[in-house]
Amino acid sequence: MTADLPKIPLHRSTLDESDVQAVADLLRSGSLASDGAWTKRAQALLAERFGLRHVLLVTSATHALELAMMALGVRAGDEVILPSFTFTSVATSIVRAGATPVFAEITEPALTLDVGDVERRITGKTRAILLAHYAGVGMDNSALLDLAHERGIPVVEDAAQCVGARYRGTWLGGFGDAACYSFHYTKNITCGEGGAFVTNRSDLARKAEIHREKGTDRSRFLRGEVDKYRWMDEGSSYVPSEIQSALLCSQIDKLDGITQNRRQLFDRYLDRLAAHAGPETFRLPHVPEGSEPNGHLLYLLLRDGDLRNEVLCTLRDQGIGSTFHYVPLHSSPYASKRWGYRAEELPVTESVCSRLLRLPIYAGLTEAEQDRVIESFVDTVRRLA
Ligand SMILES: *Cc1c(COP(=O)(O)O)cnc(C)c1O
Repeated sequence: MTADLPKIPLHRSTLDESDVQAVADLLRSGSLASDGAWTKRAQALLAERFGLRHVLLVTSATHALELAMMALGVRAGDEVILPSFTFTSVATSIVRAGATPVFAEITEPALTLDVGDVERRITGKTRAILLAHYAGVGMDNSALLDLAHERGIPVVEDAAQCVGARYRGTWLGGFGDAACYSFHYTKNITCGEGGAFVTNRSDLARKAEIHREKGTDRSRFLRGEVDKYRWMDEGSSYVPSEIQSALLCSQIDKLDGITQNRRQLFDRYLDRLAAHAGPETFRLPHVPEGSEPNGHLLYLLLRDGDLRNEVLCTLRDQGIGSTFHYVPLHSSPYASKRWGYRAEELPVTESVCSRLLRLPIYAGLTEAEQDRVIESFVDTVRRLA
């Protein structure tokens, strides 16, 4: 019945003529050298907007997490605790530092780290805790932050999905010792591939700027603080080009409008779907008091995995971009082969990953398109549940 309706993708980047102009102007200027005017501008804009002391633009959120591990001095023999319910980058950043990822359980409905489980997994080797925010919805992580503080363990936030999201007045990315943002093309604002390492700790910022610049003090040289730059520490090349930074500046200018649009769609989904939610069908995302989501993604937790899989296939057949999240990291081929983790070890994570379904959300999705998504989803669930 819906076979000939146009497809509604899961995601679409919000790019317009002003973005094209920004990149064209940059190319005409010929100023491609990294850490130029546009990179500085993007860093200053993000720092000011989100009340952060230090923002370093990098080539991806993955690289920002690698920088965080390096700046914290995580190395071989160390352990870093992280959720299994998250994206691969969080685990690979730990493995690249030579340390061992220790996967912890999450709790429902918040889908945040289970503090009791984290506490049980802390050992004398625990060097950091990586906290991953999901879906651009800020949750109460105060118990975890308190535990980490008590034990003197630094916390790194994966806020890759969270540009423009707040919890109790603080922008996500401002809670831990350091954090990352992503500007990948699937995120709310984008420069194709890009990210930011952010921190309020000057000691970490000083280290990160060296690791980011191939292990040199070129950043200090560019500020005129030293007369030549030298090899100071380990590092790699995490510096974006001015092309990416010019595009990002153009996107940051539109961030408020994009967030507002996505937030309206997010709230409208919750509003329209509420009447159909229940133990036999699905549950809505948890949005605690004081949380201001950025509408990054819309997920629902279906009654069970079979229902999720059937609904997913049906929606795709109807031309609606729908997908799952995530394949649990602890039972992934690499982790199970290397550390012998088994699926049953983290039952909540396994259950959530088997039941989670995502629906299209992006700035520019029309209400008519959203209504079609809601109608297809509700009809399908009703028929199959
Ligand atoms: C997108 C994403 C990343 C990776 O971001 P990149 O910029 O592509 O490296 C990491 N963590 C989470 C939770 C993400 O959603």
